[in-house]
Parts: sequence; C-alpha cells; structure tokens
Amino acid sequence: FSSEELTRHYLDRIEKMDGDFNAFITPTPEQALAQAREADQRIATGNAGPLTGLPLAHKDIFCTRGVKTSCGSRMLDNFVSPYDATVVERLAAAGVVMLGKTNMDEFAMGSSNETSYYGPVKNPWDRSKVPGGSSGGSAAAVAARMAPAATGTDTGGSIRQPAALTGLTGFKPTYGRVSRYGMIAFASSLDQAGTLTLSAEDAALLTQVMAGFDERDSTSAQEDVPDYMAALGADLKGLKVGVPSEFFDDGLEAETRKAVEDALDVYRRMGAEIREVHLPNLGLSVPTYYVVAPAECSSNLSRFDGVRFGYRCEDPRDLLDLYERSRGEGFGPEVKRRIMTGTYVLSAGYYDAYYLQAQKTRKLIRDDFMRCLEDVDVLMGPTTPTPAFGVGEKTDDPITMYLNDIYTIAVNLAGLPAVSVPAGFAGGLPVGLQIIGKFFDEGRLLNVAHQFQ
Ligand code: GLN
Repeated sequence: FSSEELTRHYLDRIEKMDGDFNAFITPTPEQALAQAREADQRIATGNAGPLTGLPLAHKDIFCTRGVKTSCGSRMLDNFVSPYDATVVERLAAAGVVMLGKTNMDEFAMGSSNETSYYGPVKNPWDRSKVPGGSSGGSAAAVAARMAPAATGTDTGGSIRQPAALTGLTGFKPTYGRVSRYGMIAFASSLDQAGTLTLSAEDAALLTQVMAGFDERDSTSAQEDVPDYMAALGADLKGLKVGVPSEFFDDGLEAETRKAVEDALDVYRRMGAEIREVHLPNLGLSVPTYYVVAPAECSSNLSRFDGVRFGYRCEDPRDLLDLYERSRGEGFGPEVKRRIMTGTYVLSAGYYDAYYLQAQKTRKLIRDDFMRCLEDVDVLMGPTTPTPAFGVGEKTDDPITMYLNDIYTIAVNLAGLPAVSVPAGFAGGLPVGLQIIGKFFDEGRLLNVAHQFQ
C-alpha cells in the first residue's frame, strides 16, 4: 500500500476517534496528504529511506513552519512558527509525514495532561484515567492507533511516564543527543526530545534520524551517532543489571512492583546478572528538581511578554499593564506556580539557600548514578509508582502530582538516557519497566528493551 493510503487510514481514525481522547490540538490532514504523495513519488523513483512515507504525530512543543505551535498554552494559541524545529526538519527530510500536533501539559509542566489550555487527554485504556504527561497527547495518539509513532519531550519523565501509563515504549536519549533547536524551552539543562512508539525497534529507527550534532543548539553533543538498528541483535548473556533498592520504596504499589519483578525474572532467564545497587541520594531528586526546573522556567518564560509574539491583552493602559495582564491571562495556574517558585529561589536573598543548594544535591544524585554505572551496564526499576490515576484525582494537590515522577526525575538531573517498556498490567492498566543506560549508550539501551519485547 502507498503512504497516501496509510496516511488516510490514520487521518480517518483521528477524525472518528479523537473526539473521545482529545489527543490532538491541531490535526494537519492537508499537509499530511501532500507529504504522503511526495513520499510516494520518492518511493517510486527509488529515492526512499526506511522512514519515507511513515506517518507520525509531533508534540505541540516542536515548532512547525506554517502550522500553529501552542505548547498547550493560551499564551501561544495564536502562534505560527516561521521555522521548523531540528527534530521536525530532520524527520521531514527523511520522508516522515506529519499527521498533526499533539496535546500536552502547558509548557510541558505536568504529569497528567490536565494543565493543557486545550483540556485534558483521556487514556485509551480507560477514559476515566489520565494518559500521563506532559507528552500525554502523543501517548494517547499512539496507544489508540491514531498514529503509529509520535515525538515527545522529557524534562522530568514526560516521555517515560505517559508511555508507561499507556502501554508504549517511551525513549529519552542522553541529554544533548537530540537538538533542542525549535523545541520550546521549559528547563534547558533537563529538556530532551525523544519518541513514543510501539517498540524499541521503532524508537531506534526514529532516533537514528533525530539524533546528532546541531550547531544551532549550543548544548548539542558532538558525539557520533552509531547504527542503532545494528545494535538490536546482541543477546543479553552476561549483561550486568543494577536494581536500585531505593526504587522499591513504600510508595510503589504492590501489583506494579510484581510486574517489574516479573520483568527482572525475564532478564535473568535471558542470562543477565541482576544485582542490588544503591542510589542513596535519590530521595533528594524531587525537591532538587522542583528548585532547578522552576528556576530555569522562570527565566525561559520571561520572553512571553505580550510584545513580540503570543498572547496580548486587550487595551493595555501602559507597558506594565501590558506585561501583567498578558502574562496573567496567557498563562495557566501551574505555569504561574512554577514561575513564582523559580523567581523566588533565584532572588538575591534566597539564591544560596535554594538554587545553589539544589545544584549541589544535583551533583550528588549524578555521582550516585555514575558510581553505580561503573559496575553495571544498565539500571532497572519501575517507571512510575502506580498505574494511571483518575482524571481530576490529583489536580488539587500539586505535591502528590509531583511525587508521580519520583523514579524518572533523577535521570534528567543526571542527564542519562532511559527507556520505559511495557511490563504487564496492574489492576488492568499498563505499567512500565524503566531501563537506564550510560551516557550515549543508546544502542545497548534500545537492544536491552528490544530483547524484552
Ligand atoms: N512532571 C514533571 C513536571 O511537571 C516533568 C515534566 C516533563 O518532563 N516535561 O515538571
């Protein structure tokens, strides 16, 4: 079948089903069909690669030329980017067809997709549950087969957590592996682009194209990109797996724990050596993250001032009124909470007590991981403490919501690559096994995920 037929199949599903899930902010059927026809031409002339003609959905945090990029916010509801993000550009050059832009937590701040200006996304496994966040639209789109794959971003778990809660493979490469150019910044020292797919193999195919140095991103890594597909064959005999005991705390729900332990048994049977390891400072990761991430976001989001682009209030009295009302009306409550926290921790009188302290605890957390990864090849544990929770269940209590990222956040503070793979069910809902790798060891990490599938 042609790319056009395949694209129509997914566009039809989006049209018929997305009323129930709200996974897309902006479907782009016309552009998709034009791209699909172009891909069919390329295939006909023998000018195609492995991804040519493959449909995919982009998280609405990636700038797309000529198509609205909202970042889930009223602030950017009227924003049409004049350029493509590197991720979008590279995938398009490989012949990938964009089906549309997916829903997300506002500016990627959230764990349930309930902070979006465009309303919550529903989990395809049970519509009374959240799909996780912030890449919840991407997760729901793939889980409901409205797209075969989607892009996402992960600052503290936003790819892995929604992948776990919707039964997908969610892959966050090493910090700096994939360019952040044109990806709207939340916390620049933590943000990383990646994929939500049905398999590790699909993640390998997409990452092959997305990864690699980009001179337009100053933190982009100058590391060669190996052949990820070629890495997918190796057997796991002798693989050293560390299991951090701190991941198996009281907050870990019993059936989720059981699913993860069963997954470890599968690895044992494949010949892996499983041993207990320790991350003694893991308990500091949520408080550290909620100083570092808001600090960086308060700085990154200062560009939204109602002057240059984005939302502008009606009839401002003067410049200050323009700033205050544009930001006051353009940002939602979670974004305001983060900006206020960030501004506070960075303020002159409190900088040493909070921000500086958080930089130090971040170093301790990173050192813990480095020490463990000297002795083992990968680390394994749960992705989340529980399966998907109810829509509205945690919205009144930000701290409870933040604790949902307890196993994912430390990985971003360290900058390591990690993947969540479906590892069975708890209470009828999917749960994820998280696998954490060494810096730039994505090939091995994807193979370890692939062998499980
Ligand atoms: N849930 C975390 C937060 O709200 C992580 C979000 C993300 O990874 N973008 O900040």
